[in-house]
Amino acid sequence: MQIQKNISLKPYNTFAVNAKAKYFSTFSSVNELEELLKTTNDKRRTINNKLILGGGSNILFTKDFDGLVLKNELKGIELIKEDENHYYVKAAAGENWHEFVMHCIKHNYAGVENLSLIPGNVGASPMQNIGAYGAEIKEVFEQLEAYHVHDNKIITFSANDCEFGYRESVFKRKYKDQFVILNVTFRLRKKPVFNASYGQVKQELEKMGVKKLSIQAISQAVINIRTSKLPDPKVIGNAGSFFKNPEINSHEFHELKRIYPGIVGYPLTNNKTKLAAAWLIEQCGPRDAVSWKGYREGDAGCHVKQPLVLVNYGNAKGEEIYKLSEKIKDSVYKNFGVTLEREVNII
Ligand SMILES: Cc1cc2nc3c(=O)[nH]c(=O)nc-3n(C[C@H](O)[C@H](O)[C@H](O)COP(=O)(O)OP(=O)(O)OC[C@H]3O[C@@H](n4cnc5c(N)ncnc54)[C@H](O)[C@@H]3O)c2cc1C
Repeated sequence: MQIQKNISLKPYNTFAVNAKAKYFSTFSSVNELEELLKTTNDKRRTINNKLILGGGSNILFTKDFDGLVLKNELKGIELIKEDENHYYVKAAAGENWHEFVMHCIKHNYAGVENLSLIPGNVGASPMQNIGAYGAEIKEVFEQLEAYHVHDNKIITFSANDCEFGYRESVFKRKYKDQFVILNVTFRLRKKPVFNASYGQVKQELEKMGVKKLSIQAISQAVINIRTSKLPDPKVIGNAGSFFKNPEINSHEFHELKRIYPGIVGYPLTNNKTKLAAAWLIEQCGPRDAVSWKGYREGDAGCHVKQPLVLVNYGNAKGEEIYKLSEKIKDSVYKNFGVTLEREVNII
């Protein structure tokens, strides 16, 4: 456990933005974390600003970080109990999410197969209730343990305590920067309930010639779709969807649909409709281009295939990517009266 100074964060964020951390340290046990917090909360050496970092796949550094970046490297996956219908599996926060999913598939623990290949670590998965292809972690979440950075206490959170929403939880809002998630326990099914209703997954399973559904087949279908559709951060820097899909009242949606018959929306239960942000972004653009899709300003851009994903073609600064996101947001508002909200954490 060592605190390093002036460390480039480029290898630690999937946007590959070259911001610096004033202080940087890793921790691979709760004791190490405790020590680090004690040292840096010490009156003679207070470092107020602290950032817990997982895989850096949902973060945009818009400037150097004037504080301590704590990289979580807690490891371990454990089957802690089972009952008639479920396995309860506890994974440490520093485990890679996709490797955890692969572990579950190998052991026939069902429920996370639709969430294959999401980058990042287990510890960040409850932060925004990660979701994809018709599934969210809240459906398999049992509890988590988190360390309070000021009280030095470990607190257990149930699903209710986490207040999960669409890409939301208490950790992104009222408890922001207050807790270090140490581990997450998942409740996984012994008998799978397959979720292949999502159009693209269905089509991919047909293409694969799958006759009998299995969690392995669904996982592979999701992996195939994701690799063909989303830019690989190892090739082009990005953090996945930059914006959330906005939710609006259904009557507003019908009004927009009258004016823009092609608008894409999915009805929700509470008289709301979720709009496809990608469609909105694709329909408008800057003055010198028809659409934001494929638009580039220096090394900051909007991906050619997936306009919801902002990219760094090489040496874009975080600030440049952020400014581009502001322009996109303004333009969607001007055209449709809809406010886009960022999914990515801006630092
Ligand atoms: C190509 C690509 C595709 C993606 N697809 C999806 C998708 O389909 N669905 C989806 O939901 N997301 C998706 N994402 C976003 C991202 O992968 C997830 O949000 C992921 O959970 C982030 O994990 P991380 O470890 O990289 O978090 P980081 O980026 O390191 O951190 C994200 C936030 O969580 C906080 N944090 C991280 N770990 C902890 C911890 N242990 N305790 C407390 N706070 C912590 C950080 O401070 C930060 O605020 C995608 C990203 C990419 C690059």
